[in-house]
Amino acid sequence: MSEFGLGRMTFGSIFKKPETVLYPFEKKPAPAGLKGHIVIDVNQCILCGICQRTCPCDAITVDKPNRSWEINRFQCVQCGSCIRACPKKCLSMDPAYTSPAPHMHTDSFSVPDPKKEA
Ligand code: SF4
Ligand code: SF4
Repeated sequence: MSEFGLGRMTFGSIFKKPETVLYPFEKKPAPAGLKGHIVIDVNQCILCGICQRTCPCDAITVDKPNRSWEINRFQCVQCGSCIRACPKKCLSMDPAYTSPAPHMHTDSFSVPDPKKEA
């Protein structure tokens, strides 16, 4: 870039809105298609276990007798295989990263029993 071009770019930036934001008080909108973390709609889940068998990282554990669905987000590589495989379409990708934590842990969700709710 010539000196003239560089000077014009520098001068022009004085009048532009800054590219940076005051994180964490202000956050930029997530770009389209950002891979964040898996979320589950437990009301749609039938505990079939297909997501667990599909996951290449053993990040998901489905416990049908205890009606629980667990994910170790620190093992998940956000490949999206579980989302594509779920027959009930109850898994999706939330475009927000997993919060940092001092220890690896699993997030556990109780899946309601439709027979008991009826
Ligand atoms: S594949 Fe879908 S319906 Fe089956 S256990 Fe996983 S989340 Fe639930
Ligand atoms: S996104 Fe991939 S790695 Fe993460 S839980 Fe689903 S299948 Fe496993």
